[in-house]
Amino acid sequence: MDQWQELEETQPTISRVLQNSVKRDRLAHAYLFEGGRGTGKRAAALLLAKSFLCEATVAANPCLVCRECRRAESGNHPDIHTIRPDGTTIKVDQIRELKKEFSMRGVETQKKIYIVEEADKMSASAANSLLKFLEEPDGEALALLLTTNAYQMLPTILSRAQVMSFSPLSPDRIIKKLTAAGYREKDAGIVAKLTSDLTEAEQLFEEDWITQAREKVIQLIDDLIRRPADAYITLHETIIPFFSEREDVQTALDLMMLWYRDVLRMQVGQSDAIVYIDQEDTLAKQAFQLSQGKLGNNLQAVMNAKRRINANVSPQLLMEQLLLRLQEG
Ligand SMILES: [Zn+2]
Repeated sequence: MDQWQELEETQPTISRVLQNSVKRDRLAHAYLFEGGRGTGKRAAALLLAKSFLCEATVAANPCLVCRECRRAESGNHPDIHTIRPDGTTIKVDQIRELKKEFSMRGVETQKKIYIVEEADKMSASAANSLLKFLEEPDGEALALLLTTNAYQMLPTILSRAQVMSFSPLSPDRIIKKLTAAGYREKDAGIVAKLTSDLTEAEQLFEEDWITQAREKVIQLIDDLIRRPADAYITLHETIIPFFSEREDVQTALDLMMLWYRDVLRMQVGQSDAIVYIDQEDTLAKQAFQLSQGKLGNNLQAVMNAKRRINANVSPQLLMEQLLLRLQEG
């Protein structure tokens, strides 16, 4: 990412605030970029670093041709330092090492940038050491802390950094990222409805989980309509063993909800908006078989189950009760 306009497409507020601060030379000493994976935190940090160091910015955009820009682009600018967890944590030694490195080097400019990835993994002593570092007055230092878990950051860090919350990705962006990573579009569209976090999205694809999950849910709903006597067996042999954790049952309920909504879309002639894009024939059949009243009751039943899954109900009991409601609906 080379221009603030690019960031503006996905994170308009953050883009404008940062661009203005660079223009007016009013950057904070430390920023915390927090938000889900894939929301552009790292790209924004690098763009800010370039804008900060560039000798000839145009409307706060880096010129890309000066020495500073070229060195930043190549990934080895001596004044941009990136810190990542060493193992599971960022240790105080890593921060000390950094301080030493900067103090020993013949400084070319007074500007320095520290990008701390997974900043929530800083040990308390590393965080304190970094804080002291940030408060040292010599030169201009800019610290960019990145995290997907802002709630795990020390309050002392949160209070000293300007927090920028990166918005979740839109379903369209998630689909683009997932299909670009090689995942099947028919599954990517469904996953994008289940989560706006790229890490969670990719986890749903592990061991083909989402493909199997949707097939099982489709089978249950199809049984309910065409072979009601079999639905109870499908629930116990197929659904309950597969969706064994409470979290899995939540996903199963979401998948059912998306399915019934698709049937509704078929009934009202919005077949281009369906989520189960490869199931148009089955959806069309069910749109014909299910009355609008019955469909409404089914949606209501799934919504009620979704509300109750977070209470202390046994997931198995909850699914059995849901099945009864769907059968009588
Ligand atoms: Zn430049």
